[in-house]
Amino acid sequence: MTGPMALDTSKEFLNQLITATPDGERIRLCLQCGACSGACPFGFVMKFPPHGMIAALRAGMLDTLVDTDTSWMCVSCYACTQVCPAKIPVTAGLTTRIKEEMLLAGNVPSELQDALEKAQRYDNPLGESPRKRAEWASGFEPEIPIMAKAKRPVDVLWFVGDYPSYHAGVIPSTKAMAKILQALDVDFGILGPEEVSDGDSVRLAGESGLFEMLAEKNAKAFDKYEFNEIITTDPHAFNAIKNEYPNLEISYPVRHYTQFLAERLDQLEKLMKKSIEATVAFHDPCYLGRVNGIFEEPRQLLQAIPGVELVEMAHQRENSLCCGGGGGGMWLDGFQWEKAEVRISEWRVREAISAVGTDENGTRILAVACPYEPPRFEDATKTVPGAAGLIVKDIVELIAEAMGLEG
Ligand code: SF4
Ligand code: SF4
Repeated sequence: MTGPMALDTSKEFLNQLITATPDGERIRLCLQCGACSGACPFGFVMKFPPHGMIAALRAGMLDTLVDTDTSWMCVSCYACTQVCPAKIPVTAGLTTRIKEEMLLAGNVPSELQDALEKAQRYDNPLGESPRKRAEWASGFEPEIPIMAKAKRPVDVLWFVGDYPSYHAGVIPSTKAMAKILQALDVDFGILGPEEVSDGDSVRLAGESGLFEMLAEKNAKAFDKYEFNEIITTDPHAFNAIKNEYPNLEISYPVRHYTQFLAERLDQLEKLMKKSIEATVAFHDPCYLGRVNGIFEEPRQLLQAIPGVELVEMAHQRENSLCCGGGGGGMWLDGFQWEKAEVRISEWRVREAISAVGTDENGTRILAVACPYEPPRFEDATKTVPGAAGLIVKDIVELIAEAMGLEG
């Protein structure tokens, strides 16, 4: 009796998954070609890589699938979705839904559990005090307007994000962004303590309920103030507000900062007087590039910086390689190491070295546009042979330097 009952449960789950996912019907088109699993950076270590998940559900093996911890190796990078010839929503539907089931079953690595509990308790996965969210801006001259204190409408609401607000390795790029906005005379404000995590990564790690709670808290803050658009530092915040919040009837115009600044290239070019003589490779963040199709704006910004020679890595644009931080990966480093004994960020740094060259006399930079990346790539430069001189910088840090705003 175990076999047929398991089949029924799996079939019911699959039917629900198909119904609940936009374009979910396409899951029935899977021909088990395996292209998804071949493109998956951690497919080699998953007991059920994406095509195997579909096969397992068809074979009535939902329980086995949910009991298998290697599905936590999915970093929600969308590489599988990108290559699927049947255009099956593998990441948005299948892998995220399986993670939800794993969470419900209590099959969750302790480090991820810890981050999710912190997000629940403190509204951010770092477990930082909400009151300290705008501490990075203290003493800033001119003062950074916090909406509750400024008490006036602004043109742009800057959604700063968790890592840009709290992480010591990312705060320099947050300050660079603030200086650029001020130099461009942008009328902007931030939410400060009223901002909470955008929730995109907890959603991708299977915590859809927590995601909705965070989204609603942000919506409450958005509703209180007048502004024309939101800009975000973090591609995940951009993705959440653009693509996921509307499902909760929270709709605001939003752009990633690279789009916002690229629109102001004429102004920026006049202000970037200092030359940065460097060979620069750009890492396309998954949720800026592959998921939301923003490939050109970051490159336009980098090419506008005097002295910069932009080169491309082997994997770029829609075929970019994930940094390993998405889908909860930021909080699964120990688990990933235990399973794979390799970090994707190290592969990416190897690709960057191959693109920018090994000449230690020249300045070589890996440019990024997502706050998850500097800490991951900086760590990787310490372990990858030949990467010691590779500098990791957010695009806004390079722009600020060219504008003479650093420090
Ligand atoms: S690439 Fe698409 S069709 Fe091929 S096995 Fe994966 S999900 Fe199925
Ligand atoms: S989203 Fe990325 S990590 Fe997850 S299964 Fe697809 S290719 Fe693999």
